[in-house]
Amino acid sequence: MRWSNERRELARASRRPSRGRLVPAIGAFATAIFFASTLLLYSSPEEKRVTIYSNAANYSLPVLERNGDEYVGLLEVFEPLGVVSAKVNGPHWKFRYYDVESEFTTGKTRARIHGSDYDLPSAFLLDNQRGLVPLSCLGTLLPRILGGPVTFNQNSRRLFIGNVAVHFTAQVSKTTPPKLVMNFTAPVNPTIATEPGELRMAFNREAVVAPGSQALTFDSKIIPSASFQENNGAAEVVVAASVPLMASFTNNGRTIIIEPVPLATAPPQTAPAQPPQTATVAPPPSAPAPPAIRHYFVVVDPSHGGAERGASLTDQLAEKDVTLAFARRLRQELELRGLVTLLLRDGDITLTLDQRASLTNSARPAIYLCVHAASEGNGVRVYSAVVPVGTENHGPFLSWDAAQTPFQLLSRSAGSGLVRSLQSKQIQARSLIAPLRPLNNITTVALALEVAPSSDDVSQLNSPAYQQAIAAAIATGIADFHDKLEVAR
Ligand SMILES: [Zn+2]
Repeated sequence: MRWSNERRELARASRRPSRGRLVPAIGAFATAIFFASTLLLYSSPEEKRVTIYSNAANYSLPVLERNGDEYVGLLEVFEPLGVVSAKVNGPHWKFRYYDVESEFTTGKTRARIHGSDYDLPSAFLLDNQRGLVPLSCLGTLLPRILGGPVTFNQNSRRLFIGNVAVHFTAQVSKTTPPKLVMNFTAPVNPTIATEPGELRMAFNREAVVAPGSQALTFDSKIIPSASFQENNGAAEVVVAASVPLMASFTNNGRTIIIEPVPLATAPPQTAPAQPPQTATVAPPPSAPAPPAIRHYFVVVDPSHGGAERGASLTDQLAEKDVTLAFARRLRQELELRGLVTLLLRDGDITLTLDQRASLTNSARPAIYLCVHAASEGNGVRVYSAVVPVGTENHGPFLSWDAAQTPFQLLSRSAGSGLVRSLQSKQIQARSLIAPLRPLNNITTVALALEVAPSSDDVSQLNSPAYQQAIAAAIATGIADFHDKLEVAR
């Protein structure tokens, strides 16, 4: 099930053109990072999904139409939450979540949950051995099995288990220019897209809920209003404005500041044909020190994207799609371990190597991980940089090509840690050094991961289970190395 779902997602991502546009980070101290987005939110109305938010994980599942009703696989609902099993016995389906046993019968509304009768609003269905329950029953069925409260908003298909909702306030300052300050009760990482007259933030994973009112109005001609919408398992905030807006994150991802793009903007950064040899990444001594913006612990860079497809892994499978799918999994695993993560691209867009390095260095993470995929080899290769010979750092200035030099030893040691973590999960891995851009341009611990299948079966690269196992092992390795990384930055 998850297989086919993931495949559809990959196929969709690769054929849908990107809606947003890349806006360069602007200002003396580039704090705002924008990414073009492939908005999954409202773009595929044909595919219904329900999103479940819990302390264990936030995840989306497909909603199926059966006999004119909406259904969802019950095993899939519980799988991320704990220990589950299911057994088919003729028309009966026995389901177990920890020690809570339930029994359903295909075509029947009557079920037994933990020794008591329970009536479904429509018949339970067995669909290829898979137990399907009506979506509308989740609000009453889950509390019986979980033994705790849930809140189910059936219209938007968002289900909250326990006290996991993320609330926010929004206020426009009286300053010139005005700023819209949004404070959230937990870190958020929405996908941001700008269009004429509005800035849209899509919360595809976060349990963000509406403030008192879904429509917010502000006493400002420049930023007059914002609206909260939720639909098909996701939430979105749309900020209306009379001028182009940009967003920046502070307070460990708990605050988003939205303000007009300064008029005196720098021209869009285009990569020079040759990497700049004299560019400095340290400010000259006379300049004021840039504010410390350290809210992302990890930057994950899905290599390739947009027109640049990377390797053709199979006839169907482009490297750029595998790197993005894997990077999203890695972000989820890292964030589950409390490591706030930025994806350099969260859609099918083109970024140059110089842009990747500049965006990473502005975000000031403790570690940068760039992701590649390869059809040949075995398991994961973890690369750290070789700084090109003849590029040296002088005084307080770092040469662009040798920016990685002060971090080389720690990068190698972090790479060995990741290899050990992968091997401890029976995933083949080895560490290597290579002159691989943009590693040498990064001013923090920097590694490149090249993910290859564990056998001759290249399609394994597209397997959620395989990606998940590798992502989890890497996230564990980084979490184990957390203290050393924290000290280094
Ligand atoms: Zn590649």
